[in-house]
Amino acid sequence: SKSLDRKPDWLKIKLQTGDNFKEIKGMMRSKTLHTVCEEAKCPNIYECWANRTATFMILGDTCTRACRFCAVNTGMPTELDLQEPERVAEAAEQMGLRHCVITSVARDELQDGGASIFAGSVRAVKSRLPLCSVEVLIPDFMGNEQSLRTVLEAKPHILNHNIETVERLSDRVRSKAKYRRTLELLSRSRHMAPDIPTKSSIMVGVGEEREEVLQTMDDLRAAGVSILTIGQYLQPSLKHLPVSKYYTPEEFADFKEEGLKRGFRHVESGPLVRSSYHAREQVESASGA
Ligand code: SF4
Ligand code: SF4
Repeated sequence: SKSLDRKPDWLKIKLQTGDNFKEIKGMMRSKTLHTVCEEAKCPNIYECWANRTATFMILGDTCTRACRFCAVNTGMPTELDLQEPERVAEAAEQMGLRHCVITSVARDELQDGGASIFAGSVRAVKSRLPLCSVEVLIPDFMGNEQSLRTVLEAKPHILNHNIETVERLSDRVRSKAKYRRTLELLSRSRHMAPDIPTKSSIMVGVGEEREEVLQTMDDLRAAGVSILTIGQYLQPSLKHLPVSKYYTPEEFADFKEEGLKRGFRHVESGPLVRSSYHAREQVESASGA
């Protein structure tokens, strides 16, 4: 069989480190903020930051879970930083963001899972940057309904929660998250806040079959999700789940077509697509603009 040791050409990216990029990087350090763009070594960082899109990771850099695909540190976090929402908003303002994604590690040890800090961050960014769209990419809060309500009451422009993989592989790939609980959170959000579009992501290359990806799309549509992103899983280190397959750009195009056929308003599907890639364009098309 074909070796997966070498990445195909379409996954090799050109590095462009312009002044804008360095300036932003320095500012992040000075505010002790974490971005997923950096922590996850996201291949799109130059393009996104140049386009004034960034993903902040709030609630610290230590996660109470340990998903097998994820590069974030695992352990027992100790701090809760109540000033964080204000610092996120200041950084978003300095970066001149036009689309701000706010996500977090899972903080299962906190009673609200960190929902109040999410809500505070959304409010702080919206008040400093009225023209910036704000997307939250939330953990499942262990299924806590009140936590979801707390986040929705801050009125983010998009509520994002990732399904990550197909049902059969969920338990193996994710830690503690449940496929059905993810769908339940997404459909609950539609009922609680019908004006807020919902979004989810699938990463491929962890052992799924095409039919299973299509089934996952059907399940997301049934839960009312209107924005879908699909990207290639890349193994962050040798300790992580191996890549089962590198999908070709044509296969990603096929997924996009299948997604649009199923009624998603916006589908972003490609080898380097990450949840927040081209996220600003997604808000625009999901809101019918
Ligand atoms: Fe950051 Fe998301 Fe862009 Fe990656 S795709 S650089 S995580 S905003
Ligand atoms: Fe990574 Fe999120 Fe899983 Fe934590 S819950 S290990 S941050 S994917």
